[in-house]
Formats: sequence, C-alpha cells, structure tokens
Amino acid sequence: NKQVILRDYVSGFPEETDFELRTSGKIRLKVAQGSKSVVVKNLYLSCDPYMRNRMKNSTGSYVASFSPGSPITGNGVAKVIDSGHPNFKKGDLVWGIIGWEEYSLITEPETLFKIEHTDVPLSYYTGILGMPGMTAYAGFYEVGSPKEGEYVFISAASGAVGQLVGQFAKLKNCYVVGTAGSKEKVDLLKNKFGFDEAFNYKEEQDLDKALKRCLPDGIDIYFENVGGKMLDAVLLNMRLHGRIPVCGMISQYNLEEPEGAHNLFCLISKRVRMEGFLVFDYYPMYPKYRDMVLPLIREGKITYVEDIAEGLENAPKALIGLFSGRNIGKQVVLVARE
Ligand code: NDP
Repeated sequence: NKQVILRDYVSGFPEETDFELRTSGKIRLKVAQGSKSVVVKNLYLSCDPYMRNRMKNSTGSYVASFSPGSPITGNGVAKVIDSGHPNFKKGDLVWGIIGWEEYSLITEPETLFKIEHTDVPLSYYTGILGMPGMTAYAGFYEVGSPKEGEYVFISAASGAVGQLVGQFAKLKNCYVVGTAGSKEKVDLLKNKFGFDEAFNYKEEQDLDKALKRCLPDGIDIYFENVGGKMLDAVLLNMRLHGRIPVCGMISQYNLEEPEGAHNLFCLISKRVRMEGFLVFDYYPMYPKYRDMVLPLIREGKITYVEDIAEGLENAPKALIGLFSGRNIGKQVVLVARE
C-alpha cells in the first residue's frame, strides 16, 4: 500500500520534503469478521487549504492535527472493496475522508457520502459536488443572504470555492468581481466563469484603489477566502448592512504571526455582518445542494475547472502548490482509475 506520510510538524511554508512516499507492508483488503468497517480503493484525493492547519502541532482546532509518521487524510473519492457495514456494499462509490494511500480502512463509514450520480466526472465529488461545493453554497446562500442585483466581491476567486461562488452570484443577477493571482486566472474569471470584472491582486500597488475602480458603488457581499491586506481594503469599501461570509484566510496560514486588520471598525460604522462558518455544520443540506447543482452541470449552466495531478507521488507537490497559487481551479490528485 503506497502512502503519503507527514514526516514532522511544519512551520512556515510547507515543502515537498515535509512529506515522504512510503510503501507499507501487506494490505488487508477484507474487513474483519463482525466489524462495521469498509475497505476502499482510493481514486481521487482533494487538496484543500485547511490541511495546512493539520500540519501544525495544535490542540483546540476544529480539526485534529495529522500524526507525523502516519499517512495523512483528506477528502477524496473511493470505491468500496469490502464492507461489514449494512449501508455499503462492494462496488459502491463514495466520497468523504480517506487516507492519502492506495487503499484505506474506514472505521466510521457513516461519515462517507454514497455517490449516486455517475453521469458527471467522479473527480467532481472532491469539488463542485463535494466539500468545496457545499462551502460555496452554504457560505453564499446561507451566510451571505444574497439579494438580486447586489455587488459581490470574491477573493481566491478562481479556486475551488471561489469559481462557484462567482457563478452562483451571477445566477442571482448580482454584479460580480473577483481577484486572483495571475493574468491567466483573471482571464478565466472574466471569460469562463462570467465575472463582470476581475483584477490580479499581485499587480495592484493599492488594493483600495483597485476595489474602487472595479466596484465604485461599494460591496454588499464580500466572500472572504484570503484575509490579511485584502480584508482590510475591503472593509473600507463595504456598503451599509453588508455581509462578509468569512470562509477562509489562506494568506495567513503559513505565517507564524498573523497580520492584523486595521479597518475592523468599519464593521460597526457600516453595520456589516461578518460571520464565520464551517462547511461541516451544513452537511445535512447536501442532498438539497446536490439536487440544485446537478442540473446546472448537466445543462452547462455552470462551468467547473479542475487541476488534476496524476499519481500519489505527485500529491505533496499538488497540496503545497495551493499556497503559492500553482493550482488553476480545484486541485485534485488522481490515484487510480476505477
Ligand atoms: P483554492 O482552490 O482557491 O486554492 C487556494 C488559492 O488561494 C491558490 O490557488 C491561490 O490563488 C490563493 N492564495 C494562496 N496564497 C495566497 C495569498 N497569500 N494571498 C491571496 N491568495 C492566496 O482553495 P479553495 O477554494 O479550496 O479554498 C478557498 C478558501 O476557502 C481557503 O481559505 C480555505 O481555507 C477556505 N475553506 C473554508 C471552508 C469552511 O468550512 N469555512 C471549507 C473549504 C475551504 P491565487 O493565484 O489567486 O493567489
């Protein structure tokens, strides 16, 4: 069983050498008699920014740290090879938390979602039909409370979550502006995902000016993915009673000391609701989301861009690439074809 191991806890930006590809001994492809576990063959792994927090030795986080010396875990798509659980049988396709390895023993299979629709690419269950899709849905509709015609701004806009939030906002007839870290990504935002305007934050001397240029009337909803200087500039540009679904702050994940925001008082003067959310709380709504988004995919009303790395040996490089913006769209790793 080939596995990706975290060597030790990481400080600063993670590097490929923080991981090791190891082959463990024999793989047991059958569940023990009487056990409710399942054994799965892993097909796709999802690279997600929150995994950076799991590389730290920390307690009290909403998700446990990885154990150095053991294979790391994350969201992915897998096929059931053997099952002792009444809800799963051999051949079922599932998505949920699996190991970064060829085969995994899942001891709590209740946490897995069964894949019922296979007329779309299976890798989509690491993204638009999986955790990032639910994040975009819950964050935009539930936390953002969008109204027709509002001004929406999204950071890390071409990524797994951002590209969907932008398109959901367009479907709600909002005016949508995004920011991303390269010309290629800005082109994607405008030409593929239908954003009204976009800018490359790495090329702007003054983020406040860039926001005023693209959103002269201000921002009703800021979908926050990056934090730091961007959040500070956005606060100055919020409209009265704006909402900020605080989804993530990727610009801070590799810093030992977080950068402080200076403009937090704008939350008060502008009566802005800034609300953090975790996608897990919204998982009971998954069937509702799936039934909304599947027809949009089938009818071509939503586009979805993935960046697929091939082979478990390329998984660490793909994961750490999230923090330099190497990925274009949702970063996935193909481990095995069905
Ligand atoms: P992406 O697919 O967007 O990949 C990460 C992107 O972040 C990179 O491609 C890069 O794009 C951008 N980025 C990296 N470093 C910086 C930086 N220093 N400043 C600005 N941008 C940076 O990831 P996801 O869509 O999966 O995740 C987006 C956000 O959503 C993350 O903050 C994540 O933690 C959060 N999240 C929160 C969840 C929740 O439950 N609250 C669930 C899932 C995700 P670029 O080239 O544009 O810089």
